[in-house]
Amino acid sequence: MGSIYYWAEILHKAVSDEGAPDEPHARPPVPPAARRGLAPRRGRPAHPAPADPAPADLARRLRGAVVLPGLTPRHEPPRLLLAVAHPDDETFGCGSLLLAAAAAGWATTVVCATRGEAGEPAPGVDLDGRSLAEVREEELREAAGLLGVARLELLDFADSGMSEGPPAGSLCAADPATVAAALRAVADEVDPDVVVSLDAADGHRDHARIRDAAVGVAGERGVPAYLQALPRSLMDRWVAHMVEARPDMEHLRYADLGTPDDEIAVVLDTATHLGARERAIAAHASQTSPFDGLPDDLRRAFLTREHLVRG
Ligand SMILES: [Zn+2]
Repeated sequence: MGSIYYWAEILHKAVSDEGAPDEPHARPPVPPAARRGLAPRRGRPAHPAPADPAPADLARRLRGAVVLPGLTPRHEPPRLLLAVAHPDDETFGCGSLLLAAAAAGWATTVVCATRGEAGEPAPGVDLDGRSLAEVREEELREAAGLLGVARLELLDFADSGMSEGPPAGSLCAADPATVAAALRAVADEVDPDVVVSLDAADGHRDHARIRDAAVGVAGERGVPAYLQALPRSLMDRWVAHMVEARPDMEHLRYADLGTPDDEIAVVLDTATHLGARERAIAAHASQTSPFDGLPDDLRRAFLTREHLVRG
């Protein structure tokens, strides 16, 4: 699930819900993050667009291609373990980080908890009689290859989907300890120097569940955890575009999306990997890319920098 479109969907549900107070039983569950996102903006300072980094600053960030404070690799090359919930999270979420790490010679492992079978095929996609899970696993394998991923592991949880109670066997129906154990088993083999996940600021429960497992496993192993984030200033630009292009998304104006800019710990300039990132995005052909249809400058803003917070 591409997280920026997930924002739009969940907030649409939440705002619709706010408008129907007489039907409490019809209320869909709204993730806490989305609730927080609906807080009014009264009295809050505007978030200025981030200034372009000064050249010296940029050079420092680019030294060694991937600079993560607090990371002291115990292996050469360093080992990065990325844990995500669904096929495409690795690419739509932080494909540029994987590319930058691989380009720096790091050994990257991706653990994907589900096969994304609760997603929806993009309009016009013909699965040719195959299941969505099968198609998405194949897309994940292709994308991982394009991102220079050294090892890919799929856990066998089902996709929890976005509404109602999570189905039996799904990531969110499982005991969090079971999810952590499954991730721990891979981490024991990989012995990562750093564990990465998505920060789940979009409120998707699967993203939060695997994030929590990733942070927990990193803590157990005494290695840093980093979480990919979308800075609020960037999401504000996205909202401005979406509201203009899609008047039905006016509700987005009333939410604070993404992660506050002052929480971003690391900005990696990954512009050099844009072409490869685009190819990995294209590999997820069954899914609607959250970046499709964006103006070029906004698309580049999403795809040429990676933003991380500490886990
Ligand atoms: Zn996802």
